[in-house]
Amino acid sequence: MSIKGFQGTSLLDFPGRIASLVFWGGCNLTCPFCHNPALVLDPDAWPDLDAEVLLADLADRAPFIDGVVVSGGEPTLHPTLADWLTRVKKLGLAVKLDTNGLRPDVLAELLALGLVDCLAIDLKTSPDRYAELHAGPVDNNLLVASIRLALAAPVTVEFRTTCVPGIVDAPAIHALGQLIRGAPRWALQQYHPAPALDPAWRELAPYSAEKIAELAAIARQYVQEVVVRGVV
Ligand code: SF4
Repeated sequence: MSIKGFQGTSLLDFPGRIASLVFWGGCNLTCPFCHNPALVLDPDAWPDLDAEVLLADLADRAPFIDGVVVSGGEPTLHPTLADWLTRVKKLGLAVKLDTNGLRPDVLAELLALGLVDCLAIDLKTSPDRYAELHAGPVDNNLLVASIRLALAAPVTVEFRTTCVPGIVDAPAIHALGQLIRGAPRWALQQYHPAPALDPAWRELAPYSAEKIAELAAIARQYVQEVVVRGVV
């Protein structure tokens, strides 16, 4: 069990629902712009939260919340995830899974078991640039497989892209758009540099609102709905 963080109530992370957030430690990427570097670089420095205590807390909250957001890090790395989500579902709570899409085998299992009601897959950049997100090799076919699963899944699906300058540009949006053509929703998010994993990226100026609007216009050529978040 590697649950490292818990937030009791959020109105933001599970669209249309009141949810609790659960953060799992560890990741199979080391994106230089990551906003949860402590969970990614040194998850063992954080104590594990007790799974039974957490489930009891969620049971107490169940009359007042609609669901649980499972985020990280990368939650699909953890072999106990399916069992834990089974118990969450028995509380009558909906589950939203946030994933980077690099464990399609796990995703397929969770979907087949009916353990996910809402699926958010991060699309970091065009698949051929995923090697820029990690020191080790990244098999971008895994991302493509997860996208196919998501597009066929009978659950609410959202693809998300943080518009990181130098990583996300018009060619990347076109490449991703072709992969998710027809998807119900694609959220483009502003990059906020302050907590970036790589200190050099904390100095990176975010895109202007106009540039994000340009990228959103490209994205709209491919999917049913594009939402823009975090632009001030
Ligand atoms: S941004 Fe997401 S996928 Fe990338 S290192 Fe951070 S938690 Fe992992």
